[in-house]
This record gives sequence, C-alpha cells and structure tokens, in this order.
Amino acid sequence: MKFYSTNNSAHQVELAEAVIKGLAPDQGLYMPTDIPVLPKELFDKLPEMTFQEIGYEVIGALFSSALSQEQIKELVDHTLVFDAPLVKVEEDVYSLELFHGPTLAFKDFGARFCSKLMSMLMEKSDRKVRVLVATSGDTGSAVANGFLGVDGVDVIILFPKGKVSELQEKQFTTLGQNITALEVDGVFDDCQRMVKEAFLDEELNEKLLLTSANSINVARWIPQCLYYFYAFSRLPKNDKKVAFAVPSGNFGNIAAGILAQRMGLPIDQFVAATNVNKVVPDYLNGADFAAMASIATISNSMDVGNPSNFPRLLALYGEDEQLLKDNVKGYFYSDAETVEVMQEVKKSGYTLDPHGAVGYKGLKDFMAEYDGFQGVFLETAHPGKFRETVEKALNLKLELPERLAAFMDGQKKVEAMGNDFEEFKGYLKSLL
Ligand SMILES: *Cc1c(COP(=O)(O)O)cnc(C)c1O
Repeated sequence: MKFYSTNNSAHQVELAEAVIKGLAPDQGLYMPTDIPVLPKELFDKLPEMTFQEIGYEVIGALFSSALSQEQIKELVDHTLVFDAPLVKVEEDVYSLELFHGPTLAFKDFGARFCSKLMSMLMEKSDRKVRVLVATSGDTGSAVANGFLGVDGVDVIILFPKGKVSELQEKQFTTLGQNITALEVDGVFDDCQRMVKEAFLDEELNEKLLLTSANSINVARWIPQCLYYFYAFSRLPKNDKKVAFAVPSGNFGNIAAGILAQRMGLPIDQFVAATNVNKVVPDYLNGADFAAMASIATISNSMDVGNPSNFPRLLALYGEDEQLLKDNVKGYFYSDAETVEVMQEVKKSGYTLDPHGAVGYKGLKDFMAEYDGFQGVFLETAHPGKFRETVEKALNLKLELPERLAAFMDGQKKVEAMGNDFEEFKGYLKSLL
C-alpha cells in the first residue's frame, strides 16, 4: 500500500517516507491509497479475540506490504501494553476508557505506535531521526513517554516557560535518555513557530533528519483505529444500531474511527462532539468550513480553531460532503453544559473528565434525536489529569493515580532557550 497527499492524489510515497516526513511536501496529509476491507469471518470472530490479536489482523491488513509479520506483531505488542476497557455507564451507553496508558490519555496509543514504527523504519539506517515537538502540555507528555528509550530516535520538546502545569511539565522534563526538553522564554506560539521554521530550513534539513509526531503523522493516526474494533467487539450483540461519539479537537481520533468503518467495521453513525471551538459541528450543520482563532475552555485539549485532520474526513468519504454530513453528526457544548453533565453523570456513579463529558453529552443528544441505537463515547483522559476542573465541578477530592503521582518525584532537567529561531537552529546544529 502507498500513501497519497490529500492535496495531490498523484503524489504517492511508501510508508517509510510518509512516516519520516510526517506532512507531504505540498502540506497535504498522507492517506492510504486503498483501504483494505477485512473479511466478514473476521468480524464474527472479534468477540473471542484479544485486543492484541485484533491488532495483528488490522495492522497486518494495512501494513503487510511494508512490514514483516514479526515486525507487525512487535509493533502491536509494544503499543497495546495497557487495556482499553468498555465500561457500561447506563442502559445502551458505554464509556471506552482510553486513559490507562502512561500519561493517562488516548494519545499514548498513537505515540507508542509511532515511536516503535519510526525506529523499525530506521533500523537499517545509520542516521538518527529527530522528532521536534512544540507543546502546551499534553502532546509533549504523550510523545516523550511514547518515545522514551526507543533506538534511533531522539525527541526534542519545546515548551513555554511557566505556561505548563507542574504535573504536565514533570511528565516530559524528568525522563532523560533520548528525551530533551527545551524551556523556551516565550509562549506556545513561539515554540510552534520555531519548530515550523526548523522544518522549512534547508541547511538544517540537509544535515538532520527532522520529523514531527503530531496527529497528522500516519503513524500516530492509524493505530487509533484499533480500539474502535476492540470496543465494537465487546458491545452486547443485539439488533441495535451502533454509534460512536468522539470528543474532538484536531479530528484525528474520529477520523481513525471512520477508517475502521471503511475497513468494514459496521459502525452506523459517528457523533463529533466539541466544546465551543465548533468549526466542524457548524460545518456539519450546513455552514461553510471556516477556521477561527481558538477559544480557551475547560476541555483544553480540544481548543482547536483550525482542525488539522479535517482534510482526512473529506478524503475518507471520497470528497462526498453529503455522505460525510449524513454519517457524522456534530454537537458542541459550553463549559457550563460540560460541568452540568459531569455533575449529572457523577450521580449515577461515573466520573467523567471534561473531554469525555463532551463526548457523553453528544452521544446522549444524538440518541434522543435518533431511535434504535446503542452507543460508545470515547473517554479520552483520566479525570485526575484535569484534577482542578473536576474537583471544582464535582466538589470532591480526587486521588491522583499512582503512575501520575510518580512523575512528581522526578527531577526536572531542561535547557533554557530564547524565543529566537537562530538560537534554536544553533542548538540543533550543535547536535551534529
Ligand atoms: C487530543 C485530545 C482530544 C482531541 O483529539 P483529536 O484527535 O485532536 O480530535 C480529546 N481529548 C483529549 C483528552 C485529548 O488529549
């Protein structure tokens, strides 16, 4: 299988190039040229298969032209080292808990897969890949922990000094080994600008193999389809239709669900739920797609005004906008509505984080409008990760999960950096 650019379907590359480049040279996103449809017998067997066994089949179908059976197994085993339990919250409503990984958010799946795949693709090369990441918190921790100790790949994280919570900072500044954290005297936008300039700098790219590990990278995007197969396989078998509701920001996660559907998984309906950064729900409800400046909310990992994976949604529906709008329903919620739903669901004994709450509410509102469904919402982060918001909303004290608390004991190690590109460039050149 090859990968084409969403900006030019004639531009096609092999898996290795798509992964190492991240973004196509024409700034398009890479997409698989032909999406394999899995055999019907496999879907009948899913309920008896383990998460890993499902992973071998799905990743095998997608990547068997580029990787050996052994590599596929190694890749899946490295990625799926924690579970994604499907928890019943109420009649016909299930939470797919994607927060049981090292940094307690679903991005752990993509980051682990991406790091291992990059390392495999570089095995025969004597060059080192350098992953550059600008972070305001979450992405840095997932990428750093996903890539920790992986051969052939170094990670350089730029974060704004004093603008990241202590707990988040600890998750990527205490690791050492192949992870370096640069504390930038500036804001997040400075970090992002410096990384973007580095990718465009000819001199640097001649000397260094620089790449990104955000959700536009196919190696982070594709593995997210795995837990849709798994969740589906664990739903009760009945004649109800199936909806998946996904709290969305850059729309990589929901696009991976649609990829699973394209591979034959019989999902009937998607619900795209956002906070007030509602560019996509507005589009799905009939407006033109119009990027906007992002607005800060309590579900801050979804504060995205220009969702980077949007071209993938269109591509998955063959650029058929009506089909997209029929199959994906959009809902958005204010912070007040999010808090209200967290309080309501807490009464029935389940604690939602602010992101999962947006997904839950989207699912419920969809199910109130359309009959005959059972539904899954993706619980993308552990409530302890957004402790202050959750404690305030629910008026309680949360226990910090052990693996999160453990980061607090680590020693912070960073290098100081100004917000000037030339200084960053000098630093990168010094690595040679
Ligand atoms: C990144 C993130 C999201 C949004 O996922 P996208 O793939 O960008 O749509 C939702 N919830 C949490 C907790 C996240 O970290």
